[in-house]
Amino acid sequence: MSVLVVGTAALDSIKTPKTENPLLLGGSASHAAVAASFFAPTRLMGVVGGDFPAKYIKLYQKHGICLKGLERVPTGRTFHWSGEYEVNMNNRRTLDTVLGVIETWQPVLPADYATTPFVLLANISPQVQHRVLDQVSKSRFVIADTMDLWLNIALPEVLRLLKRVDCLVLNDSEARQLLKEDNVINALTKIHKLGPKYVIIKKGEHGSVLSGPKGLFVAPAYPLKKVIDPTGAGDSFVGGLIGYLAAQKTGTIETNLRRAIVHGSVVASFCCEGFGLNVTTRTVKASINARVRELEKIARF
Ligand code: AMP
Repeated sequence: MSVLVVGTAALDSIKTPKTENPLLLGGSASHAAVAASFFAPTRLMGVVGGDFPAKYIKLYQKHGICLKGLERVPTGRTFHWSGEYEVNMNNRRTLDTVLGVIETWQPVLPADYATTPFVLLANISPQVQHRVLDQVSKSRFVIADTMDLWLNIALPEVLRLLKRVDCLVLNDSEARQLLKEDNVINALTKIHKLGPKYVIIKKGEHGSVLSGPKGLFVAPAYPLKKVIDPTGAGDSFVGGLIGYLAAQKTGTIETNLRRAIVHGSVVASFCCEGFGLNVTTRTVKASINARVRELEKIARF
């Protein structure tokens, strides 16, 4: 079954203590759609400006991503995010965000996208996430991602969104911010009360915790010796996860979700090994499967 991903298609400029990389292909939708495309047919909803390089369009196409929902505004500027990492790669700060064409974007779904069974509302304003949800019908599973910015400036819209989705994915600091709650287990319980049946809290290199009707699942992150650039790891995680779910011919969401999370973690590990999407876009399914098998060995007891 196919996956619809809505989010940002961005140009990212990323500084690490060792190097600087301007105008990479980035954005929540780019990372998530490429990750999902390893498993299932993927449709991308987004908007770019006239400055969006043709080579990045080719990269999406190389992954077989359907671009009917990617709008191009020739007179506008593509969303641009720049960030800087400290020596400890867990700490990053945003240097600049130029909204460009996403500031006024009113997504209109191509008619045949409306019945896409798996929908990922990747990180973008909750107003855009709502607008896309308003246009889909009969989806089997809807996942939403968000970030601290929207919790700060659009909390009522985020809370309204939680009542409309099956699953929320957020990181531990966002969970603390949303609920004023330090304990992850208590945070999960409180988020369920806000709406989603499934909640996944990401804990970076320490993995993630899923909470659903059948209880908890603790998933490891793939242990990497060297992290080059973790930008987009969260988006790759949730993209891989929903792509894997969409690809399953048997089982239920509940029974497939654990393996889906592990596949998401593995795609995220490739993302961290290079700048932007450089390594992810060179990865093949066999390498993903090999890391999943390694994780199985490491985590079984
Ligand atoms: P992550 O590292 O998973 O948090 O995702 C980083 C990606 O999110 C980058 O590729 C950025 O282009 C994108 N991004 C940064 N700020 C925003 C924002 N306000 N809304 C949507 N996407 C963003």
